[in-house]
Amino acid sequence: MSARILIVEDEPGIAEVLAITVSRSNHTPLLATDAAAAERLLANQTVDLALVDWMLPGMSGLELIRRLRRDDATSALPVIMLTARTQESDIISGLDAGADDYINKPFSPRELMSRINALLRRSGGGDKGVLQVANLTLDFDALRAYVDGEPLSLGQRDFQLLSFLAANPERVYSRGQLLDHIWGRATDIEERTVDVHILRLRKALKPAGADDLIQTVRGAGYRLGLS
Ligand code: CA
Repeated sequence: MSARILIVEDEPGIAEVLAITVSRSNHTPLLATDAAAAERLLANQTVDLALVDWMLPGMSGLELIRRLRRDDATSALPVIMLTARTQESDIISGLDAGADDYINKPFSPRELMSRINALLRRSGGGDKGVLQVANLTLDFDALRAYVDGEPLSLGQRDFQLLSFLAANPERVYSRGQLLDHIWGRATDIEERTVDVHILRLRKALKPAGADDLIQTVRGAGYRLGLS
């Protein structure tokens, strides 16, 4: 399956390179030159992922991302922010606004595609297939997880949580970040719900001797650790 990728970029040359890069990976590019055009397009078409430039005429890409996150229809849309800004504080404001990832301009098309495909995998859209991390296998079509080939007994939410952590091994996520990504930003579910699901995940992994895959990082959150 190929994904439909919205490109919000006002500079025609860059928009063209982005569209070509996306097409070469068998995804379909949809172009918008400003935030208003992007919102109109999103209201009428199915989009699997958005690439949003920070510097747009009129409403900034940052503000667009904030608006997407507030709208139920787009709150879970995977978003990669394109930015010429490399200051850490700028990147943090982009991620705080709700971008799932960011890429600096000038970008390498290969890096861009690998970020897009990784995010599509994490969000369960686009090409699904199988993810293998250590002795863990995640089958995104069947929504099943295996350790050394043995199936785990997981609910859908637990599968989402496991696959989200597995898509970025070693990276630590706070409870708040996990809530945002797995349950959606608009949720009013309490953070301890994450702990309950982590506990269930470990329980499901235990018979396979793999419960130490899910690690607690004190004061920070959780990660899927490879050691
Ligand atoms: Ca721009």
